[in-house]
Amino acid sequence: MDFRLSAEEARFQHEVHDWLVANLPAGWGTPAYRMAEGPEEKVRFARWWQRRLYEGGWAGLSWPKEYGGRGATPLEQLLFAEEYVRVGAPAMIDIGVGPALVGPTLIHHGTERQKERFLRGILTGEEVWCQGFSEPNAGSDLAACRTRADLRGDVFHVTGQKIWTSYARLADWCILVVRTDSQAPKHRGLTFLLVDMKSPGITIRALVEMTGVAWFNEVFFDDVQVPRANMIGELNQGWTIAITTLAHERGGSAPHARLQGEMRDVLALARRLLLTTDRRWRQRLAQSFVETEILRLLAYKQVSDIMRTGQPGPEGSCLKLVWSETDQRMKEVAIELEGPYAALARGSSRAIDAGCWQHEYLWSRAATIYAGTSEVQRNIIAQRVLGLPRE
Ligand SMILES: Cc1cc2nc3c(=O)[nH]c(=O)nc-3n(C[C@H](O)[C@H](O)[C@H](O)COP(=O)(O)OP(=O)(O)OC[C@H]3O[C@@H](n4cnc5c(N)ncnc54)[C@H](O)[C@@H]3O)c2cc1C
Repeated sequence: MDFRLSAEEARFQHEVHDWLVANLPAGWGTPAYRMAEGPEEKVRFARWWQRRLYEGGWAGLSWPKEYGGRGATPLEQLLFAEEYVRVGAPAMIDIGVGPALVGPTLIHHGTERQKERFLRGILTGEEVWCQGFSEPNAGSDLAACRTRADLRGDVFHVTGQKIWTSYARLADWCILVVRTDSQAPKHRGLTFLLVDMKSPGITIRALVEMTGVAWFNEVFFDDVQVPRANMIGELNQGWTIAITTLAHERGGSAPHARLQGEMRDVLALARRLLLTTDRRWRQRLAQSFVETEILRLLAYKQVSDIMRTGQPGPEGSCLKLVWSETDQRMKEVAIELEGPYAALARGSSRAIDAGCWQHEYLWSRAATIYAGTSEVQRNIIAQRVLGLPRE
């Protein structure tokens, strides 16, 4: 297999590099640069950066040009992601739900009117989205969702609770999966709505994660009114729409780029701690490096699959499984390299790298839970990729 880039692809790569370097915030990446702190400030910064990407023509990379995107091929998206990490550009996860999940779902299933209303605000960062799927008793089994929506005339009345809703406090809009038919089999009684987070009847309570930061929330709906015009697809057909969103969540990225960047940081940490001549650490570091290389090849394979089939399929679960577990093992190496200093977290003046590895280690535990747990990914691979019977 030949991984060399064509002249055109190499030109694209240079174009990305040059634009990013010219447009990063002044002083970005230097010790003097003051990074945004806490969810509110981070989301404000992400909105600003998203706007800059939009004005430069780099927002909605995968979206068709007719909807304001760049219409980049999956390979160009991968090259962009690699270059993005190489120059250390700002992580985009803080307002990622809109561009990565809502946009592609709307492009696939929305009416022209809905696309016209919502897509531009996602691209420019003016409207931030959250994902209201999980409930206290419906996580992996999303179809068990119990938040109810009764259609009266042209208005849905929504009552129930969502949980683990990242960014809900800071979001303008929410994609919401609700039950509209309690008599039908569970996958057939769901509907997919777009909900204005400022609607009367919504109460949001922050949940603090093990990192000490409160990204996620509980969201309570008490007779919240949602116009029928904000329904995506047909009544009771929400499961199909949600599957599209989840396929983009699991398969639509290039996670190897970030992990390769972090692998370089872990190696630098080992060098600074003078541990690179120790046989035990050399084995662990080499193993982590091999895993990130496997991940890279898997991401390339997925890109070529998507170029062939046109959209992410169940094979995306392989990539999700491998990146999330590789991520955790790498962060375990980092934290163990620190020895007793691993006990010092952010805020301690003696913490190594300002406590960033403690934070990364704790945060990496979430990777095998969100966007479908590792067990769920293995079930998908068993049934939909390998064709094994259901349990
Ligand atoms: C950082 C983070 C951010 C999140 N953000 C959002 C968000 O913005 N919006 C949103 O809607 N949700 C969000 N979630 C929730 C996430 O989607 C759920 O946590 C996830 O789907 C698992 O559901 P659960 O927590 O209810 O666990 P459960 O589904 O109750 O699972 C508990 C355990 O049982 C296992 N299990 C469950 N079913 C099976 C099965 N069939 N076979 C084998 N094992 C099984 C699971 O793997 C897990 O180990 C987020 C989660 C995290 C950690």
